[in-house]
Amino acid sequence: MSRILIRGATIITMESTSPVPPIENGAIAIEGNTLAYAGPLSGLPADFQPDQTIDATGMLALPGLVNCHTHAAMTLLRSYADDMPLMSWLNDKIWPLEANLERDDIYWGTMLACLEMIKSGTTCFADMYFHMRRAGQAALDAGMRASIARGMIGTAPNSEEALAYSRELVQSWQGQGDGRITVTLGPHAPYTCPPAYLEKVVRLAHDLNVGIHIHLAETRDEINMINQQYGQTPIALMEQVGLFERPVLAAHCVHLTEADIEILVRRRVGIAHNPQSNMKLASGIAPVEKLRRAGAIVGIGTDGAASNNNLDMFEEMRTAALLQKVSTGDPTALPAYAALYMATAGGAAALGLEGQVGRLQAGLRADLILLNTRVPHLCPPHDWYAHLVYAAGAADVDTVIIDGRLVMQNRQVLTVEEEKVYAEVTQRANRLVAAAQK
Ligand SMILES: [Zn+2]
Repeated sequence: MSRILIRGATIITMESTSPVPPIENGAIAIEGNTLAYAGPLSGLPADFQPDQTIDATGMLALPGLVNCHTHAAMTLLRSYADDMPLMSWLNDKIWPLEANLERDDIYWGTMLACLEMIKSGTTCFADMYFHMRRAGQAALDAGMRASIARGMIGTAPNSEEALAYSRELVQSWQGQGDGRITVTLGPHAPYTCPPAYLEKVVRLAHDLNVGIHIHLAETRDEINMINQQYGQTPIALMEQVGLFERPVLAAHCVHLTEADIEILVRRRVGIAHNPQSNMKLASGIAPVEKLRRAGAIVGIGTDGAASNNNLDMFEEMRTAALLQKVSTGDPTALPAYAALYMATAGGAAALGLEGQVGRLQAGLRADLILLNTRVPHLCPPHDWYAHLVYAAGAADVDTVIIDGRLVMQNRQVLTVEEEKVYAEVTQRANRLVAAAQK
């Protein structure tokens, strides 16, 4: 078992739901994939004998960021089609390109996403797409933690195949990589998965004892469509079909009634807030501050790179905080610590990984990042929480450890051949564009 000691860092544990002073001159001891100690250097157990010591003087140590909702391989479509209305964006651009995606495209697209996420301090992500065995393999090879779901469209001709694939994915991939991979079921959304299909999904989820990852209440069109067809809100409809009897990760939750919020809180639904995607697709602004005050479990996601267009959780945290202030007219809405909490411990809880990751606490899995603070925009050190949310950027991430393994050090990613990823993705993206234009 390898033992790593990180010494000298200022430690931000995110153990508390409200801000506490960071630990100056801290020590973090890692044994195998587990945090053995995170606290003041003076309290480090004397018998801890590291194989490797990282001098983190002048660095901040914090839990790895959790990207609660993405479609990782959509990096292949990054900046391919922008500034378009949602339906023509999907019909004319995204879906024709996706029609030609091959299994290995998913591997390399996901690998590019992993590379980007590692370099911007994300250690864990929730992914919904297809060919998910290849996505899972990319996450494993990159050394990341991931919750994967095969996106399922209930109205598509392959809807039954998608269920069978998902069952097999759970059976063969749940817990892979020493528990780094979690598998859930991924019904796409209420407007693509009718109630009868969702009921099948819920039965399968009970059967396999897994959670569900779904898009919910994303756009006004969705609210109107579901209301016309079923006379209720998407959240109320999901409650009725029994979806919330399973652990659910609900992406977006932009348009909510008071009754919807009550259901989401009571059912302990994990909510993935995707502020930049919601802005870019003009979907609206999720009532995050209201949800937070009501006691909802809220994390932050980037959504896919086709609607963002990057997977940078630092940008996403800052956007989340700023958007709540400007939309509520209240500068105290979603303060820095709350935004950082959503991107770490809150996100872990939304993914059902509370007690495993999201905090720097002895006994949890060792997923953490070190940020270089010797940069102009992080000086002077008045308030590290405000710095992390309002001033820090992806390029400040120096070191990334996932499940006790050094995945990036001095900004060198140790698990991925960067140039090979760029070459594969560029060649595959060019092929996809050419095929879509035929
Ligand atoms: Zn999405």
